[in-house]
Amino acid sequence: MKIVLATKNKKKVEEIQRVLAGLPVTLLTIADFPDMPDVVEDGDTFEANAVKKGVEIARHTGCMALADDSGLVVDALDGAPGVYSARFAGPDADDLANSEKLLRDLEAVPEEKRSARFVCVLALVDAQGKVHTFEGKSEGTIGWTPKGVNGFGYDPLFYPQGHRRTFAEMSNQEKDERSHRGFALVEFARFMKASQTS
Ligand code: IMP
Repeated sequence: MKIVLATKNKKKVEEIQRVLAGLPVTLLTIADFPDMPDVVEDGDTFEANAVKKGVEIARHTGCMALADDSGLVVDALDGAPGVYSARFAGPDADDLANSEKLLRDLEAVPEEKRSARFVCVLALVDAQGKVHTFEGKSEGTIGWTPKGVNGFGYDPLFYPQGHRRTFAEMSNQEKDERSHRGFALVEFARFMKASQTS
């Protein structure tokens, strides 16, 4: 079975490919469809954006699509950056600018109030437009300075609950085992296995 990964984020693609390596599916990426139009992420929720990306890419490719919408939800910022995580510091912001803005916004927030979670919603959409969603969350806290060089996005600032190292200081496997995307992918893999045996 062929599934198109509906994301242009190379780091996300790597994480998805890693966790799904044992499944009997062929994973294609948007790079295999060069004329694919950009999908505007204008939903209010991770689920709305994931479903929108999945539906548009399944329609365009005629293949099953798996879309990821994810981000960081910070309690002291009333849930920001949330669905705006990729463009927190502005429309063309990169990971560094977004992380710097996050640290500035949290400058006066004490340790005990720096709780946050990463959220990931995966939407699996078949060529007929039928949708299944899978959600994963990873609880943690936001640090005071970036630590580590692995991963992407806000990884150098995020300490998963019970750990004294950020996601960016962990190996790929350690992050996959406790990340929002890792948890959502486990649910997805469980669903795929169940539907192949039924
Ligand atoms: P999306 O492409 O709209 O889903 O944007 C997701 C954004 O959320 C990314 O650009 C990152 O800033 C952030 N994000 C999502 N997942 C992760 C992760 O696993 N680590 C670090 N940042 C993440």
